[in-house]
Amino acid sequence: MSILRNVILNIRTGIEQLLPAQPCVLCGSMSHDGLWCAACDRALPYLEAAHCPTCALPTPRGEVCGQCLKHSPLFTRTAAVFGYAFPLDKLIQAMKYGDQLVLAHAFAEKLARCIDKTGLPDCVIPMPLHPAKLRERGFNQSQLLAAKIARELGLELLPHACRRVRNTPPQSTLPWKERKKNVRDAFRCDADLTGKRVALVDDVLTTGASLNALAEAVQKRGAVEISAWVVARTLPHNH
Ligand SMILES: [Zn+2]
Ligand SMILES: [Zn+2]
Repeated sequence: MSILRNVILNIRTGIEQLLPAQPCVLCGSMSHDGLWCAACDRALPYLEAAHCPTCALPTPRGEVCGQCLKHSPLFTRTAAVFGYAFPLDKLIQAMKYGDQLVLAHAFAEKLARCIDKTGLPDCVIPMPLHPAKLRERGFNQSQLLAAKIARELGLELLPHACRRVRNTPPQSTLPWKERKKNVRDAFRCDADLTGKRVALVDDVLTTGASLNALAEAVQKRGAVEISAWVVARTLPHNH
């Protein structure tokens, strides 16, 4: 058995060595490590292990944060890979506005790895873009992330279950206080999700207003347990 494993390992190493080295998207040094090199990966702002289980905000002992105690969002768990800080923020912006689809794949692989495999949901739903924005951008980065994660984890993808029915200004352009109002009734869910456990996928969670509004839409259609899966969580000291 161990001989077989060694052969497989050697083949894999051989294949990796055959792949050409590529310049790291962050520092430019040549490596076989993927889009970014191992040294840059170690320097990325990975989210602290101790964080609020509901919204992924770092807390001293991993307890539920004050905000979630006061106003618990409709999603009950959040999985996030990174804090939304330099230079990760640049990579996310490159994914969204620079058409860097390979970045979406790399992020989705990371996110799939940090999801708790013991309580997987029944289906995965991406944060929808308004059709006007989709035309403008040409793709929905959340859908790319969700599709890749669903494939990695063997889960059902429901890419068209939800729609954004109001073309609202981007949340990032608004003060935090106005974000909840901005996305109120912005989403519709067309699928019957009775009894389903659902994971909602987005690139960044900041106030959680969009994800909460989307969670409300799927809850109305019967979803029983809603998780948020995001690449990055905005940390308060960024503001
Ligand atoms: Zn690098
Ligand atoms: Zn929280």
